[in-house]
Amino acid sequence: MSLIVNPSTLAVIAELRDTPLALVDDVVERAQRAQRTWARLPQRSRIDGLRRIAELVRANSEELARIETSNVGKPIGASRAEVSMVADTFDYYAGAIDKFFGQTIPVDGGMDFTVHEPIGVVAVIAPWNFPLAIAAWNVAAAIACGNSVIVKPAEITPLSICKFGELISNADLPDGLFQVVLGKGPIVGTALTEHPGIGKISFTGSTETGQTIMRSAAGTMKRVTLELGGKSAAVIFEDADLERVAVESTGAVFGNSGQDCCARSRILVERGAYDEFVKLFTSATGSMVVGDPLDAATTMGPLVSGNHLDKVESFLDIELDVVAPTEAPTGPGHWMSPHIVLNPPRDHRVVREEIFGPIVTIIPFDDEADAITLANDTIFGLSGSVWTRDVGRAIRVSRGLETGSISVNSSTSVRLQAPFGGFKQSGMGRELGMTALDGYTELKNIFIST
Ligand code: NAD
Repeated sequence: MSLIVNPSTLAVIAELRDTPLALVDDVVERAQRAQRTWARLPQRSRIDGLRRIAELVRANSEELARIETSNVGKPIGASRAEVSMVADTFDYYAGAIDKFFGQTIPVDGGMDFTVHEPIGVVAVIAPWNFPLAIAAWNVAAAIACGNSVIVKPAEITPLSICKFGELISNADLPDGLFQVVLGKGPIVGTALTEHPGIGKISFTGSTETGQTIMRSAAGTMKRVTLELGGKSAAVIFEDADLERVAVESTGAVFGNSGQDCCARSRILVERGAYDEFVKLFTSATGSMVVGDPLDAATTMGPLVSGNHLDKVESFLDIELDVVAPTEAPTGPGHWMSPHIVLNPPRDHRVVREEIFGPIVTIIPFDDEADAITLANDTIFGLSGSVWTRDVGRAIRVSRGLETGSISVNSSTSVRLQAPFGGFKQSGMGRELGMTALDGYTELKNIFIST
């Protein structure tokens, strides 16, 4: 039995039973049956099915957002935006089904063409920071391609995906097309990654767990998409609009309490602008409101759990120059205020490891080459920003950074129409956009002799 806790009050909000291992075979068999039915349905019926899911999410969006906020602790506005993106994702992939097609290939002696076939059953293993949105990206693309899905949410944040499952049981989909299993990663998660009836694992979580999953999936040659950790940089040049960058950067590093794989947790500033930027950023951070995530004025909620809070606080080495310009509540809850670490040694763990909490480092750089070297000096490569008014430099630096997505003069990382994923140890494969569909299908080549 797992107790699910609200991280801003520490109240127990649910008690859930883990899925017994003995049931996993039944879950997979149901998923296989559903998949065969789903893949044989007319394209129009599958498009309508995805549209109905989008409608059900929209019709219940406030309830889903409140569940997400009470389970994860994120501000209610952020949860509403997340739920809205979930509905949009199902609409997007409903529209993609009849626009994803193969090629006709010129060959001698006949006609050669490719078709995309579903993989079968896809297991989606999800993290706790965006429990509904990240699962939904995977689920929507997987079922659009004719697969069925089994979702295993993170142990501490299963509530929104369970509610989603309840809602879409009214979407008139084949029984077992979407199922949720609950429990610990190394137990129920491993039962999925090792199961011969599952064809693909879509995993989002830490790099360490990603390595374990890849090893485990190798036993049955499962396809894997891995969306892993990050240590993204915002590279800020002197000619940028520093006031705007400072304000937007607070969201880019402290949004979701810094528990964001794309958090720009390293801010690199051209030396001539360093002092001015530190002043502006400290002042913008001082205006953040840390508190009750259901209050519309709140800009940052608690951290997700006590264990995670301890891990994040362990980065605050006494030797570091740290500023914390705003207060966090002192009552029950996993509270921590935003912390800014000024010019730490470049090899300190606060600069090198993923913190996944409200701690940012600000580091000066000398020139374009130094900025690129510094930004790339990490095992990760997920996201990043470049701030400059010089278009040539924006392109040069964007091309120089070893990372899956870059925003110029923006802090955003995810647009559901565009591919998203990591270089280096930030992952493998891409989610979102039309590109994701390649990861949920097998490519079949057919030759017809003439
Ligand atoms: P985690 O790796 O601890 O857990 C993620 C999921 O994997 C959970 O559901 C967990 O139960 C499951 N799991 C754990 N061990 C397993 C095993 N041996 N076999 C199968 N499943 C197992 O990650 P987390 O702490 O939930 O999430 C935070 C991490 O996720 C951070 O590193 C963050 O950067 C990363 N993340 C990446 C992205 C991205 O898109 N790249 C997005 C969000 C989060």
